[in-house]
Amino acid sequence: MDQSEFRKIPGVDRLLESPEIAARIGGLSHPIVAEAVRRTVEKVRAMVRNGDKCPAVGEIAAMALAELDERENLFMRDVLNASGVVIHTNLGRAPLGTEVIEKMSRIGGGYCNLEYNIALGKRGFRGGLQEQLLVSLTGAEDAAVVNNNAGAIFLILSQFAKGREVVISRGELIQIGGGFRIPDILEQSGGILREVGTTNQTSLDDYASAINENTALILKAHHSNFHIGGFVYSPPDRELAALAEKNGLLFVYDLGSGALVDTERYGLAHEPTVQDAVRAGAHLACFSGDKLLGGPQAGIIVGKKEFVAPLKKHPLFRALRPDKLCLAALEQTLVHYLKGEAEEKTPVLLMLAMKPDEIRHRAESLSEKINLEPDRLSIVQGESAVGGGSLPGQTLPTFLLAVRPPVSPDKFAEKLRLGAPAVVARIIDDTVCFDLRTIPEARDGDLADAINSALA
Ligand SMILES: *Cc1c(COP(=O)(O)O)cnc(C)c1O
Repeated sequence: MDQSEFRKIPGVDRLLESPEIAARIGGLSHPIVAEAVRRTVEKVRAMVRNGDKCPAVGEIAAMALAELDERENLFMRDVLNASGVVIHTNLGRAPLGTEVIEKMSRIGGGYCNLEYNIALGKRGFRGGLQEQLLVSLTGAEDAAVVNNNAGAIFLILSQFAKGREVVISRGELIQIGGGFRIPDILEQSGGILREVGTTNQTSLDDYASAINENTALILKAHHSNFHIGGFVYSPPDRELAALAEKNGLLFVYDLGSGALVDTERYGLAHEPTVQDAVRAGAHLACFSGDKLLGGPQAGIIVGKKEFVAPLKKHPLFRALRPDKLCLAALEQTLVHYLKGEAEEKTPVLLMLAMKPDEIRHRAESLSEKINLEPDRLSIVQGESAVGGGSLPGQTLPTFLLAVRPPVSPDKFAEKLRLGAPAVVARIIDDTVCFDLRTIPEARDGDLADAINSALA
């Protein structure tokens, strides 16, 4: 081993003095920058140990800067979602409306009456008002709010299914996103899975004949993220509710997305609404706050008082409780629905309602701002997706700005992601496509700038 090469490796302190690296301390803090530099020096040591020559100091500094870029990309930042997927789980699901953000800001920036009854000057109940709003909106007897819908299902099964059987159709033993599988949740909660029917056909009789003295509940899980068509049958919710009722069981409906408005008005298929589930007689129904409802991450449970009330006494309820920011956002989201203004003020609903012509006009204006030969730009018909475990396979007609970049589409898409703001676009054939349905109109200019920077 060549000791003279080792002696050439600059020290961490010396690298930290280099102006380009020192300039990053303001944004990233000294410990993070120093750690990245230390890692880079370790890498260089390993290279020299392997017999390589020590790179020039400038080269080592460049390695450290690349390491710093990597760190910086891990910090949360806003993303322009040009993918056209409205509820994009990886990109944070539902964006929140202006008044919702204002409410969170007011509540989060100081103290609030989270668990305090102002009139009485003593302890109150977290989530109490939000529960009442949910009752008013859905027609259910009672409601409870937890951290997310997976938590809601876990809580319900832990309360009612411990050591007892849960009847579920084989067509509904589903996996939602990464790592959430109905059979696993059931097992964790201490329940016993009792599968009935087949993937595509499950009759009321299949459910009925599975019921025995150890059955606790019938669980129905919405097909949120896949679609089966053709020769399919499952009994109507009303019949499942009646069967459960007759046998002294609970009918629990995991709605997944939790629409409060009928998605048919957007030209989409009918997603079961929360009101549908309540009307059908579900003893408990649960859904996410940040899917079609368009609010913050939350798990919402509605149903009959005698079954919702014990959930609020379960130790898991405390473990899964939502924080003040979630409840502030949920409250304002629900108030918009109650005032009949949700469709003008909830970004998810606005995006679903956006007309293709409006999107085309915006795409045309965007196209005029892009610094590229016109023959590399085109406006093409495309499809936006609802996403986020809502209406699988259903799309909305849209128009896309399709850019044929001078570099490879993958390379261009990467530059867009690494820009500020980060842009997530879609690659179709040899073009990178931008769907303005999922971009707030006020940010069209930012998107143009980001595309131009990535082209430069
Ligand atoms: C999305 C979804 C869940 C999980 O909800 P989270 O709020 O993400 O925890 C559970 N069940 C169904 C059917 C879903 O669509």
